[in-house]
Amino acid sequence: MEHCDCIVIGGGVSGLVSAARLAVEGRSVRVLEASARLGGCIQSWRPEPDFWLELGAHTAYNSYAPLLEVLEDRGRLEDLLLREKVGYRFVDAQGRLQSPLARLNFLEAALSLPFGLFQAKAGRSVAQWFSGLCGQGNYRRLLAPAFAAVLSQSADDFPADWLFRKKPRLKKAPRKFTFTGGLQGLLEALAEGAPFRVQHCACVRAITRAGAGFRVRLDDDELSCAQLVLAVPVDVAVPLLADLYPEVSRRLARFPMAESEAMGVVLAAAKTRLPPLAGLIGVDDAFWSVVTRDPVPHDTWRGYTFHFRPGVLDRAGKLLRIAQVLGANQNDFLHVQEALNRLPALGVEHAVLADEVLALLAREPLALVGNYLNGLSIGDCAWRAAIEAKRLLTLKGVYP
Ligand SMILES: Cc1cc2nc3c(=O)[nH]c(=O)nc-3n(C[C@H](O)[C@H](O)[C@H](O)COP(=O)(O)OP(=O)(O)OC[C@H]3O[C@@H](n4cnc5c(N)ncnc54)[C@H](O)[C@@H]3O)c2cc1C
Repeated sequence: MEHCDCIVIGGGVSGLVSAARLAVEGRSVRVLEASARLGGCIQSWRPEPDFWLELGAHTAYNSYAPLLEVLEDRGRLEDLLLREKVGYRFVDAQGRLQSPLARLNFLEAALSLPFGLFQAKAGRSVAQWFSGLCGQGNYRRLLAPAFAAVLSQSADDFPADWLFRKKPRLKKAPRKFTFTGGLQGLLEALAEGAPFRVQHCACVRAITRAGAGFRVRLDDDELSCAQLVLAVPVDVAVPLLADLYPEVSRRLARFPMAESEAMGVVLAAAKTRLPPLAGLIGVDDAFWSVVTRDPVPHDTWRGYTFHFRPGVLDRAGKLLRIAQVLGANQNDFLHVQEALNRLPALGVEHAVLADEVLALLAREPLALVGNYLNGLSIGDCAWRAAIEAKRLLTLKGVYP
């Protein structure tokens, strides 16, 4: 059986940042990724050789320092692409656009702000904290749909201190960026020429103990390792840990998942009535949000990804609604692609559970990383991966 120092299960941002940070310190590392593609929730669809469209995550910031540091190690910081400044608009059922400021009641905000600023964030939900900050009306009209557009699910119960966390910035990178070939290209760059190995189409079926380390079972292979990083969605982690860490698995089973249905369309630049926009925010619509390619403009094509609420429209209904919003004809859609996105549906209680889980594993050669432990963003995942890699590297008793 092949043995390595660390096995990382999952080739999304959490897994790849973990792998890079462990390997750079000399550990032999193998990443096992179930799909043929790296990236997980970061999914750049490439319908034309020089045109991509994000079906999942789309924007990264220079506060995602642990991610940028490993990209710098690969010598690929110069491949970051600046996102041009274009705004977001709300869109109503008739397809009319409205600026976010038009939905703000300034008087309500001014009356709420002096009290709201002094509320503690920890232990409060997004709805509680932001309603306190700018008033309930402003929250309902402006912030609730805007945050739901960010998370592709209602953000009302989400822990307030897990949204928009302030982190040190890597100043040499653009403040807001994407990557050549889309954000998935950034993750591919982390793996190219990396000091760790990636095995694609390697779906992990079971994990068992092997001495002080672990044995990892794939469909047609088994590997062993001294340390393990589990970088998979939380509902995948639950069965994998059920026998090995039942206390952890039981807690993780209390994290529900939310789905959203992405549909991307590409059309000739002249075929839509929409002005250049970063995205649209749906209000009581079949979709939470629309993400565009306009921040990285292309001379010939424009692209739009609609993030639909699950189970509301079938394919024909989605195409019709997209055409209405774009003011386009369905025959003008040159490429269409669908994808299912899944994210944890987090509440304040999950912040407590996550702390309990991390405490249970504090001295174990197993690290849990991912978007359910301290926030959903790529940056939150990268920071968690960096912290856990450091913990594994300094863990006593496994290495001299
Ligand atoms: C629609 C959408 C838009 C978003 N927009 C942004 C954004 O603009 N900016 C931002 O910062 N964040 C954004 N996010 C959030 C962010 O993209 C994710 O939280 C983050 O990428 C999750 O990374 P991860 O590595 O923890 O998990 P994942 O990306 O889910 O990766 C897990 C990996 O594990 C693999 N896997 C699963 N089971 C197994 C198994 N048994 N064996 C081996 N491998 C397995 C999967 O194939 C996958 O590749 C967005 C998310 C979504 C869904």
